[in-house]
Amino acid sequence: MKVLIVGGGGREHALAWKLKQEDPDAEIVAAPGNPGIAALGRCVAVPATDVERLVALAEHERPDFTLVGHEAPLARGLVDRFRERRLPIFGPTRAAARIEASKAFAKQLMLDAGVPTAMAFRHTEPAPAKRAARELGAPVVIKASGLAAGKGVIVCQTLDEADRAIDFMLRDEGFGAAGAEILVEEFMEGEELSIFYLADGVEAFPLVPAQDHKRLLDGDRGPNTGGMGAYAPVTIELPFAAGEFTSEAVEPEASEVRALAHALRFGRHIVAPTLAALRERGSPFTGLLYAGVMLTVDGPKVVEFNCRFGDPETQSILPAMSGFPVGDLLRSIAAHGTLPSVTWATAPDFLARRAVTTVLATAGYPDTPRKGDVITLPPIEDDGVLVFHAGTALNDRGELVTAGGRVLAVTGIAKTFEDAKALSTRYSALVDFAGKQFRTDIGWREVARRARAS
Ligand code: AMP
Repeated sequence: MKVLIVGGGGREHALAWKLKQEDPDAEIVAAPGNPGIAALGRCVAVPATDVERLVALAEHERPDFTLVGHEAPLARGLVDRFRERRLPIFGPTRAAARIEASKAFAKQLMLDAGVPTAMAFRHTEPAPAKRAARELGAPVVIKASGLAAGKGVIVCQTLDEADRAIDFMLRDEGFGAAGAEILVEEFMEGEELSIFYLADGVEAFPLVPAQDHKRLLDGDRGPNTGGMGAYAPVTIELPFAAGEFTSEAVEPEASEVRALAHALRFGRHIVAPTLAALRERGSPFTGLLYAGVMLTVDGPKVVEFNCRFGDPETQSILPAMSGFPVGDLLRSIAAHGTLPSVTWATAPDFLARRAVTTVLATAGYPDTPRKGDVITLPPIEDDGVLVFHAGTALNDRGELVTAGGRVLAVTGIAKTFEDAKALSTRYSALVDFAGKQFRTDIGWREVARRARAS
């Protein structure tokens, strides 16, 4: 099997690792890849956003399929171009990728399909947007509709903050065209889950749910980032009356099965109607549909959809599912357009694993990440430790150096959450580069849950 992976972050390294794990003979080509992926395959210096060069690369390499990690080429129509040339690819078309690329489109779709989500108003002018914020009351959420590198959402505690966020986006064009239209959205309270669904346009198969940590510092303090860590599976109890959400589901015993059952139920209530609505619009969604779900007291509500694997959740989810043939599902969807019939029972032993991922970031991240600091990676002494490269590069002297805000993602895998977390934190502390930043409390909600349960 030969796979072309588009992207060069920790997520793409984890995808390459998973494909090689399932099939050690798999040939991996990555564009542009990174020094970590280079240990598993061949990296080609084609940027992940250059649609025409990616088409040319795939025509030259003829992979069994192409796997796209990054949202930007999807929003630019990479999949449409590949399909025109009959090149197998896993990912949504440009029209379907609007579910991430336009929050205004996604919100309308959810409202039309009856998918539970926060109430929101679309605006392009500051004055009416500010009136809408007053109507909803603080706290209120101001969102740039377009792609803003994960920074386009501002949760405002006061109306003053909301006014500033509105002016920043609509008047000062702080996010450029991505913020020319905004959503003024009701604030939702609750715990968040990231659930990945592999979708073939009609059916969707959920992967184990994960939880992300957006803030830079321990205790969920400091600025928002692309994500400083994750863990999977999440063994949360539903905070709302189960009612309609549990009627057709299995009655799970173990907590990890319970987390999976949540994912399946949400699939019926959130993902199935979303896929149907996209089909009705003539743009069926094939690829990875990422549902950010808030568990509110009124039931699960969608915070956002993304049209690709999440980073750093992928670095937890795939190791947690190491016994499950994710690669086969990706290939089948890319090559044949359909999910194979697969159930959790295909590889039940993966339920025995916990994964915790700690992200190591550069000095100055997230505002002004510093590049060029030499990285020292100590030997890995436990096979429960995986190191995924993100913002790394080799300098002229062949030394591994920092090259982007998030440098590495260190995943610990173990039978228990505690052991997985200890493996991740311990190795993260040993990695050395000037200005290294990382959190030591990844999975703190799971820690608190387990303390309450015992
Ligand atoms: P998004 O990019 O839409 O996922 O938003 C980024 C983060 O902002 C989410 O992960 C949430 O933590 C938060 N957020 C977004 N929308 C809301 C909302 N309506 N209520 C509360 N928090 C939100």
